[in-house]
Amino acid sequence: MSIRFRSFSSHHQEEFRPIIEEAIREAKTEIANSKENTKPISPDVSIGRLSRLDSMQMQQMALEAQRRQQLYLIRLEEALTRLNQGTYGQCLQCRDDIAMERLRYQPDAVLCMRCAR
Ligand SMILES: [Zn+2]
Repeated sequence: MSIRFRSFSSHHQEEFRPIIEEAIREAKTEIANSKENTKPISPDVSIGRLSRLDSMQMQQMALEAQRRQQLYLIRLEEALTRLNQGTYGQCLQCRDDIAMERLRYQPDAVLCMRCAR
């Protein structure tokens, strides 16, 4: 029987701080940029050859993308909180370590590969 450390070493956790902080910055920029595309459309809008209906559909898509970014931002901020608490990188379900490759690809992951399936 071998003793296994269940928590990420603090060294590994710190490796993800700049990754998460960068992702937070990017998400905030995305949200700020999308404000322009999610403004209410005035009745007399004419964007090149786009019809008003097209503009409204584009606005819907922009709103949807903005909502996704906002959720992602919340998840990233939660990841940063877990990092500060020293529980980052731990699967919420089985308490096992989440693979580092997975966290690099998806820094807001809260489940390991096995539990996410
Ligand atoms: Zn798990």
